[in-house]
This record gives sequence, C-alpha cells and structure tokens, in this order.
Amino acid sequence: MSAQKETNNYQEKQNFSADVSRLLDIVANALYTNHDVFLRELISNSADACDRLRYDAITNPDLIKDNPDFRICIYKDTTNRTLSIVDNGIGMSKEELAENLGTIAKSGTAALMEQMKNANDNDDAKLKLIGQFGVGFYASYMVSHKIQVVSKKAKSNETWLWESDGKTGFTIREPNEIEMARLDGNRGTAITLYIKDEASEFLLDHKIETTIKEYSDHIDVPIFIGAPSEVAKDKDAKAVNSASALWMRPKNEIPKEEYDNFYKHISGGFDEPLMVSHWKAEGKIEFTSLLYIPTLRPWDMFDPSRRNFVKLYVRRVFITDDLDALMYPWLRFVRGVIDSEDLPLNISRETLQYNPTIEKIKNAVARKILSDLDKLSRDDKAKFNALWGQFGPAIKEGLYDATEHRKALLKICRFYSSSSNELTSLADYVERMKENQNKIYYLSGESLENIKNSPQLEGFKAKGIEVLFFTDTIDDFWLQSVLDYQDIPFQSITKGDIDLCGFDKEESSDNDDSDDEKPEKNKENKSVAKLISKFQEILANKVHNVRISQRLIESPVCLVAPDDGVDMYMERVLRIHQKYETDNKPVLEINPNHELIKKLATNCEKGSDISDAAFLLLDQAKIIQGEPIEDPSAFTRRISNFMKDAL
Ligand code: ADP
Ligand code: MG
Repeated sequence: MSAQKETNNYQEKQNFSADVSRLLDIVANALYTNHDVFLRELISNSADACDRLRYDAITNPDLIKDNPDFRICIYKDTTNRTLSIVDNGIGMSKEELAENLGTIAKSGTAALMEQMKNANDNDDAKLKLIGQFGVGFYASYMVSHKIQVVSKKAKSNETWLWESDGKTGFTIREPNEIEMARLDGNRGTAITLYIKDEASEFLLDHKIETTIKEYSDHIDVPIFIGAPSEVAKDKDAKAVNSASALWMRPKNEIPKEEYDNFYKHISGGFDEPLMVSHWKAEGKIEFTSLLYIPTLRPWDMFDPSRRNFVKLYVRRVFITDDLDALMYPWLRFVRGVIDSEDLPLNISRETLQYNPTIEKIKNAVARKILSDLDKLSRDDKAKFNALWGQFGPAIKEGLYDATEHRKALLKICRFYSSSSNELTSLADYVERMKENQNKIYYLSGESLENIKNSPQLEGFKAKGIEVLFFTDTIDDFWLQSVLDYQDIPFQSITKGDIDLCGFDKEESSDNDDSDDEKPEKNKENKSVAKLISKFQEILANKVHNVRISQRLIESPVCLVAPDDGVDMYMERVLRIHQKYETDNKPVLEINPNHELIKKLATNCEKGSDISDAAFLLLDQAKIIQGEPIEDPSAFTRRISNFMKDAL
C-alpha cells in the first residue's frame, strides 16, 4: 500500500498500436447506428472475467474466499456524467491492461485493417467487416469521450488505472483512494465511461435497464443496477437479468431474440446467426450444446491456425474457449457452448486435448451439425445455399479430414454445374445423369467465369452431359482421397481420353456404332493424321502427344492431362500449395472440324512450314486455361508475323 502512495504521481503515456488507432477512428466516426452494443460488449467482458476466475478458483479456492458471489454492478453518476460497469472477476495486471486494451491481440488483425482501408468511406462495407471482427471494448468510444479502467487481480497487491480519450494513446497510473473505491471488494475491474453529450440517454436508469435486459438477459452472472457498496448492503437487491445459463433452459421457453443475443455475446459478432442448434445429448455421454452458424464468415476463417472458438463448460463452469480437440477444424466457423456432464471439474486444460470424452463429444457434435444442415437444405433451400456460399469451402475440408463423416458430408455438398445457375447436390446430379453415363464429370478451375468458357466443355454441352464446376482450392485436395460418390467415380473432363460418342443429344440415335468404334476412325482423314504427326514432331518437348479431340466443338485446340497424369488445374494448385514439382506434359487435342485446323492440314500436306502455327495454337490453349505461356516474346513475334501477313 505504502509503495503505491509513494509513487502516486507516476504516469506513463503509451501510444495505441497502429491497428487500434485505426479501429478507434472507425468506431468513433462510422458506427453510429447501433450505439447500445457497447454495453453488451462490456457486460460480455465482465461475465468472461467472472468465468475465468471461477475456473481458477476450482484449484485455488482462496482466490474468492472473501467474496464468493460473482456479480456485475452497473450505475450512473449524473453529476459527473459517468456510467460505470464493475465486476468482481479475474481483473487485470498492469501489463494486461496495456496489452489487452492497448493492442488488438487477435492474429491477422493487420490483414483486416488492410481490408478496412480498402473499404474507403463506405460505411456499410466497414460495418460488415467490423461485424465479422467485433470491436469489443473499443465500442465504448461510441458513447464516451474518456474511459477509465481500474483493475486489480485477485490476491494481488497492486491496483492500476488505465485511462484514455480513445484518440492516440493511453496512460496507466496508480489510482487515488476514491478511484480505488470503485472496485467491488478487493478484486476485479471497474470501468468508468465519461458519457458524450449526444449519448446522454445512457445516464437514464430506464435506458440502462432496458439495454441490459435486451442484450444480456441470458448472462449467467447476476447484473445489478447500483454501486457495489449499495448492492452489497441491500439484502433484497434483485438482478436485472435472469442469470441462468441459457443453454440449460428448455428450448420452447427461449424466444428467438434471446438466442440471437446470446450469439452476439458469445461471438462478438454483429450479424444474426443463420442457424441455431440447441441440443441435449443423453446416453453414453451427456452434454448440452448450443451452437450457432453465423450469417457471415468470420474474417479469419482461412487463417492457417484453423482454431475453433467454441466454449467448453463442465457443469456450468467455463473451462476454456481454446480447445482445438473439441471441434473439427472444418467446423471452425461454428460458435457457441458445449457443457459436459461427464468431465471432472478440476480437469486441467492441458490434458483435455487427448481426453476420450472430448473426442466423443467432437464426433457427436459433428454428426448433429451435419444432420441439421441436411435438414436445413431440405426445409429452406435459399438459407442453406447462402450458408454454403459462406462456409462450403471450410466444410469441404472435412471430406479428407474426417473419413467417418464423409458420407454425411457428401450429402450436403453443393456445386455449380453446366446445366443451370443454381447449386446442385450430388444426389440430384446423379438423378439427371444420362442413361449410359457411369461417371460424375467435373471441371475444376479458378472461377466460374473462367470455367464456363473452357473449350473442354464444348463437347459435353453439345451432348447435354452435365459437368460439375469445382472452383474452391480445397476441391483439388479432397478429390485426391474421395474417388467416388455412391460408387460412381469422379472424372475430370480435362484429363485422359474421353469418349463421348455413346451420348448423342438426340436420344433416338439407333444406328449405334459399336461401342469401341471411335469417331477418329470416321472423321480422321489422311491430312489431319499428317498434321498431327507434324505437330507432334514440332512440339515434341512441350506436349505428351497430340490427338483428335471429342471435346471440342468451337475451339480449334485444348490441353488435357494424359490418362495417368494429374489433372492440370489440380497440378497447378498442388504446385502452389504443396510445392509439388513435376514435369508432366499435357496432351494437345485438336478439333478436326475447325476451319483453321482444316486449312493447316492442307498447308501441311503441301509442305508449308507450320511450326509457328503449332506454337501459337499451343500458347492459345494455355492462355484459355489460365496457364502462363512459356516464351511471351516468341509468342508476340509470331502473332505479329501472322498479322503482318494477314493485313
Ligand atoms: P475480446 O473480449 O473479444 O477479447 P475486448 O476488446 O472486448 O475483446 O477485450 C479485450 C481483452 O481485455 C479481453 O480479452 C480481456 O482479456 C480483457 N478485458 C476486457 N474487459 C475485462 C474485464 N472486465 N475484466 C478482465 N479482463 C477484461
Ligand atoms: Mg469482449
């Protein structure tokens, strides 16, 4: 104590991290639509702080012995125009104050801020980004021109005061006696907001109470209106919220708003949940889960850590929100709570990672979510498709990550295809397959726009054979381990020799040539054969071989992977992501019915030099495929020559 008094004048001004400054600027200037959320954010933080101390007290009951009942007190002071939020939770040390309130601890923040800059002055875009990210504590600067945070860790001798006007930086100093008295007993955090003129409504009891009720009714720490000392004295003090764990209440007693508010509390998000799954598992393992799928994908969904944020409770006591073993990484966008009845309360966080009960919960939860998703896909297609657009790429990771859920996963997977602009399931694709079609055809590439114009698709379109479009990077990975759907193999249309002559658009083609009768035999005339062998000679080092195509209708050439090779787009993806190196050469397919090929065949027969044309056609095939061309200067030289001759 005396040490504190002696250094009472000691102050340190520190600057906010660059990210915080920018965030604060946006909060102050752009987020004027929903001011009330600051209170929800502060209450959430206080409830978390109580949860954390409750956990520590399991192994160290001394921590809360003299003040065992957790609570949050909220009160106004109209003379000084302040609103205070006080909890007797875990508190913060000096270092923690600087770290937690002066920087943004979340990884990937820099990237988010970069996006924020790009959103320019578009408030909607910013709001959406903030919504995905959450502003937490800083939301209070929407209504405050100054904030003071007095905090003391349980059993610590030190109390510190953090203060900032939310502009450039903050100071941390020791509080005087009056400031110190803001705490509830001898631990926890007291936050004092100096309310801006335009936010005066937050100095009205009625407004404070309705805001608490609106956002925080489900918080399982009691929230009182009044200073801690008054609340402690008043034996009849009644909490404003219901203070029971929401997930333990019966489903039919919980209105949608309460579910939604709990989602916002738990996720820090501003969006509405797209799907709520509230479930009590009974049997070999017992647990309750209240899980949400957000409307918008979290900004860090593709962060390489693939960490999950679901909170684990054991019989209503919060244990951790950082247990990777609790959820599959491909469900990392799910938010919510899992409360186990089976685990021992004093389990250490470290051993949880390998706990068999956790493993069982993980699988049961995955099964439940997959079946809920399947149900949603049938009950509300539009909603499901929106969800798939946000989270499909993550969910599909499960196809190679979790063999035991593969069947259920394939059931909910949706893809675009060549037959319509709508997403289709694999089951529906199979339903529409041609009579003698025994493969699920797909085309993978960077984007739908690119893929739709692929020359390789021409023959399939002409014959009315549906082709699935795979445009997520992840597709090329799961295809390595998932070879079929209901025993029907997946077949890339840019790989191998594909025989389409069994499929005629007019179903009535009776003059059916025997199956092994390839159209080359009919169409290939001598001069095309010569052209092919000439091409082969010229492009010997560049291609695997040259052959007549069945896929092409309008384009003169295209590239495909050889039968035993790796699909070309997949190869490119693997090259980038797994540093995979090969010197696989593609097959150049030519369209014998194309005018250009016919002319070249004639010229070739006459003995003209067709090597420039051969190289140009190869480059052209690469360009349409999105592949880089090998020698751009040779390419432009050849083009110029052709143009010169043509003009
Ligand atoms: P988040 O809650 O998403 O982590 P916030 O900006 O709301 O982000 O809070 C930042 C951090 O500050 C919290 O993670 C927590 O460590 C700390 N903190 C905030 N409020 C309190 C409080 N009342 N008691 C203890 N720690 C707190
Ligand atoms: Mg928070």
